[in-house]
Amino acid sequence: MVGVRIDLHTHSTVSDGTDSPEELVRVAAEAGLDVIALTDHDTTAGWEVAARALPRGLRLVPGAELSCEAMGVDGGRVSVHLLAYLFDPEAPALVAEQRRLRRERRTRLRAMAERMAADGLPIDPDEVLGGLAPDAPAGRPHLARALVRAGAVRTVDEAFARFLGGGRGYYVPRRDTPVETAIDMIEEAGGVTVLAHPFASSRGPTVTEETIAALAERGLTGVEVDHPDHDEATRRRLRALAEDLGLVRTGSSDYHGTNKTIVIGQETTDPDQFEELLARAGGAPVTAS
Ligand code: AMP
Ligand code: ZN
Ligand code: FE
Ligand code: FE
Repeated sequence: MVGVRIDLHTHSTVSDGTDSPEELVRVAAEAGLDVIALTDHDTTAGWEVAARALPRGLRLVPGAELSCEAMGVDGGRVSVHLLAYLFDPEAPALVAEQRRLRRERRTRLRAMAERMAADGLPIDPDEVLGGLAPDAPAGRPHLARALVRAGAVRTVDEAFARFLGGGRGYYVPRRDTPVETAIDMIEEAGGVTVLAHPFASSRGPTVTEETIAALAERGLTGVEVDHPDHDEATRRRLRALAEDLGLVRTGSSDYHGTNKTIVIGQETTDPDQFEELLARAGGAPVTAS
């Protein structure tokens, strides 16, 4: 298994990436990856297209990144992202919850767009929402790109820094899924779960080690240790925690195409850890037919 390159966290145009699922698998193969997971936010809509376009030699792990919330230190809720892999995409409870979340995403993005328009920013809420497929998981990167198109900012990063971050006045929160519920739903649907970028503090308040321990009890399979938003000290701390708790440790790029400066395969998962993840899941990756 030496030399096997595995990236378990990527986004396509089905959510807020800029490569279509077909392009994504091609780009992954060109980057020399052996395994790629497609983890669009709150949807499995890209799975079939990606599987059909899969180049020979590349294995596809179908997944999703679920928008969740967990208990914070002060009893408030903090936003967490839960990566889920190899689950039944038709499990009824999961399908219903993901549909609710996608509706919630639209309502929330419209509210943000309206606040921005009311404040004189060059944003047309109807145009931003109308430019998305009706059932697409709308996200802040879509607003960021609209700001870039209008010339209000130069980059998506600048849009986040100046307008879209929490505490910027335009931010509207969402009602996400309690992370415990999401872990149960994925387990029920035969899949495995990995807590995405748990200590990425630049995105806002994060979970604590105690919360991760409680989620491990609940059935969480792993944590994302190597992520572009984790510095070296954070990675060491998470790795040690994961070893203590018996959690699988992954590494992934969180590639979003040109919406971020990260390149695909920039961070990878240790092949032994990947095998462990598969052993705990029911299904196997998809291979080219
Ligand atoms: P939302 O789910 O609508 O709250 O938006 C969060 C999404 O925006 C996630 O996919 C993040 O990866 C992405 N994101 C957060 N901060 C930035 C940033 N500074 N630049 C680009 N994308 C970002
Ligand atoms: Zn995203
Ligand atoms: Fe995330
Ligand atoms: Fe992501």
